[in-house]
Amino acid sequence: MLDTLTQRLAKVVKTMRGQARITEANSKEMLREVRLALLEADVALPVVRTLTNRIKEKALGQEVVGSLNPGQALVGIVQQELTAVIGGDLPEKQRRINLACTPPAVILLAGLQGAGKTTTAGKLAKWLKDSMKKKVVTVSADVYRPAAIEQLKMVSEQAGADWFPSTTEQKPLDIARAALDYAKLHFADVLIVDTAGRLSIDEKMMQEVSDLSAFLHPIETYFVVDAMTGQDAVNTARVFNERLPLTGIVLTKLDGDSRGGAALSVREVTGLPIKFVGTGEKLGGFDEFNPEAMAGRILG
Ligand code: GDP
Repeated sequence: MLDTLTQRLAKVVKTMRGQARITEANSKEMLREVRLALLEADVALPVVRTLTNRIKEKALGQEVVGSLNPGQALVGIVQQELTAVIGGDLPEKQRRINLACTPPAVILLAGLQGAGKTTTAGKLAKWLKDSMKKKVVTVSADVYRPAAIEQLKMVSEQAGADWFPSTTEQKPLDIARAALDYAKLHFADVLIVDTAGRLSIDEKMMQEVSDLSAFLHPIETYFVVDAMTGQDAVNTARVFNERLPLTGIVLTKLDGDSRGGAALSVREVTGLPIKFVGTGEKLGGFDEFNPEAMAGRILG
């Protein structure tokens, strides 16, 4: 079992007792431990560098006030910086879902197959209905997998959302057009569009989702990513971010045993806010993203 960042820091704290301030010399070992623990938590190397530099800058020369010793002060700084980098420094408005447009507000979900898009569509529909009292329509533009369309139908029913039927014989853009007309006609507040997953990044599919985006003008476009996929998540996020006007990230499968370092990397690489997290297979396993809680998880 690897040491958590908290455990690693605790060890360093001991060695720093009795020293009055944080210096280049006494912060060295501490920063090394931070670096190792972040790497173990699956944070990408460039992100680890940025973060450790920020921590170092903040820490050096810092007077250690009151009963805090330099070690404990450093732990506080690590916690603060981690929270800030992961999204805590963003204005509240940017961290929240944005539905400020003429209804229906279109939300497009994109990501690799198996990331949890369809499940997220159902979860988001339920969340919008229960927490925000919104009338939601869902539609699947995945014309490659009939099972995906059926799955969306099922989760939409569970969520109490209106599912708009589509078939694998249709073109994604025709589906989008018909669903948008339907949502308007029925005074829906939100239209959630689930898109085809792909096993890896494939030009034809990137074009397809990009065309859908150009037609639908979604107010929110979420990149749905599996927290367990670690560094791969970062590469995929980068490509999707180049091709789509993404507005946020949904991080799924946080109920798994990943430390969540991928979250930090994806956020840093794309600059996008993480807006929601998936925490279970059931529709209730879904929450707005909380940077403090995530920093706590990475700290271990
Ligand atoms: P899609 O291909 O992107 O639409 O992915 P799905 O929504 O079909 O999800 C793929 C698998 O991941 C399914 O077995 C889901 O039940 C599971 N899944 C999705 N989100 C979560 C989550 O937050 N936690 C867990 N444990 N499983 C999830």
